Amino acid sequence: MPVWSSLWQGSSGTPELQEKTLVIVKPDAVQRRLVGDVIQRFERRGFKLVGMKLLQADRDILDKHYHQLRQKPFYPALLAYMSSGPLVAMVWEGYNVVRSTRAMVGDTNSAEAKPGTIRGDFSMHVSRNVVHASDSVETAHREIGFWFHRHELVAWECGDREYTYGP
Ligand code: UDP
Ligand code: MG
Repeated sequence: MPVWSSLWQGSSGTPELQEKTLVIVKPDAVQRRLVGDVIQRFERRGFKLVGMKLLQADRDILDKHYHQLRQKPFYPALLAYMSSGPLVAMVWEGYNVVRSTRAMVGDTNSAEAKPGTIRGDFSMHVSRNVVHASDSVETAHREIGFWFHRHELVAWECGDREYTYGP
């Protein structure tokens, strides 16, 4: 089992059901009152919300979060956008949550994002694409560590587990 799988586990359940991912409702979406719409999609899918906060991101956290993009020409504009107002950072948990969430979010380029995805339904330009979602389990582990302290993640039992995963 990879090291990160043993971290931040819930109180019960098998590790594969406890995969976690970071989702950020970006500042454009907060301004456009889309926070509820985004949360609703993950809730309805069956994923479990285990962490959530509204905050104004500072340069330090955004530099860490987007470290791999620092040489890109759009990087200064991306940081200005991401610090333009409050955002909502969330951690969602569940079976294959990283892969499923990326599919629900849609293509980075909003024009390519399929209808039915969050970006395909709510965004038309890559520079204002409504949400962030971690792109791998490893990335998710690292990103969750940037945005959340361990004690801010809540391990709780879903009452509907038998109906969403089976016994
Ligand atoms: N981005 C941008 N212009 C581009 C490519 C990316 O402004 O040409 C921004 C956009 O907000 C995107 C973020 O940079 O969501 C991170 O880029 P990445 O390629 O990681 O896309 P994502 O993982 O968000 O789909
Ligand atoms: Mg990315």
